[in-house]
Amino acid sequence: MRRGSDIFSAKPTNGERKEEETLRPKFLDDFVGQEKLKRKLRTYIAAAKERGETLDHIIFYGPPGLGKTTLAHIIANEMGVNIKVTAGPILERPVDLVGLLSSLNVGDILFIDEIHRTPRNVEEFLYPAMEDFCLDIVIDKGPNARTVRINLNRFTLIGSTTRAGLITAPLRSRFGIVERLDYYPPEDLFRIVMRSARIMGIETDEDGAMEIARRARGTPRIANRILRRVRDFAQIHGGGVITAEVARQALDMLEIDSEGLDEMDKRILRTIIEKFGGGPVGIKTIAVAVGEDEGTIEELYEPYLIQKGFLSRTPRGRIATPLAYKHLGIPLQGRLPLFE
Ligand code: ADP
Repeated sequence: MRRGSDIFSAKPTNGERKEEETLRPKFLDDFVGQEKLKRKLRTYIAAAKERGETLDHIIFYGPPGLGKTTLAHIIANEMGVNIKVTAGPILERPVDLVGLLSSLNVGDILFIDEIHRTPRNVEEFLYPAMEDFCLDIVIDKGPNARTVRINLNRFTLIGSTTRAGLITAPLRSRFGIVERLDYYPPEDLFRIVMRSARIMGIETDEDGAMEIARRARGTPRIANRILRRVRDFAQIHGGGVITAEVARQALDMLEIDSEGLDEMDKRILRTIIEKFGGGPVGIKTIAVAVGEDEGTIEELYEPYLIQKGFLSRTPRGRIATPLAYKHLGIPLQGRLPLFE
């Protein structure tokens, strides 16, 4: 059985992709939560349709698994256009983009996942495509080299990133709409779990779904993953129905605690408290001490720990908050000068 850290991993596994596909809401009405963002998107979509124009380029940013890819597909469905999907790291050379861009019809969407990982020369090649809907291609070498301009249909680029800070200023400035996705409250995750259970034919009672929702780290992808694992557990140990008790036992086995923290979350907090006097301590030092990649900590673990109020980011480094001491059962007396 997958342990906490695998359950929390950022990207879907290959086997999981298909199932995610079936769970993916197709229209804004089926997309649970993120009400403010949905309201804005509805307006942009209605306005563009009314004017008969294409949508502005959009960036979605926020932690993995919150619905950025899903929204890109939903926007395509709502606009009634096609969507082509690629990812920053796959685009190695500008030429990789030529075929993609020139195959787009008017209003189509190009979705670039992990857009912050697009190589710089490819990114620069995107600028005129985004701004003037054309590509300047250099053909031949040396004295014969010349530039050929290819005109493109007007399209909408939707970029997705977990690291908004890594997007260069010139790229960012070419997006008309920049929207953040936030972690979901347990009530929304509850609705997502109930919806997924219905689609997958899993029997779950409301308390069981709520238990999963509370521990799913504010993340739909993780809620769906936990649901699948708890289903296995319910099948073998719980008569096939997910109740609160079955969910609790399964989550304990997966080493996900009552606040949705896994072993790595706790190791990070414990390291800050026990090795560095509660902080402040730099992210690099934490990464070495816990044996995890710095980027993964920043992208996956830290945002949730901050959101839950266990960790605080200061100019001098990360600090474990009194709530972290309490959750880990470590006495606070005399240990936290910064909070006294
Ligand atoms: P991201 O691109 O942000 O990493 P995805 O869009 O791939 O996340 O979403 C991960 C999974 O969670 C998908 O299976 C998707 O269907 C589900 N999901 C995400 N957001 C929602 C939502 N608001 N309502 C229902 N399901 C969602």
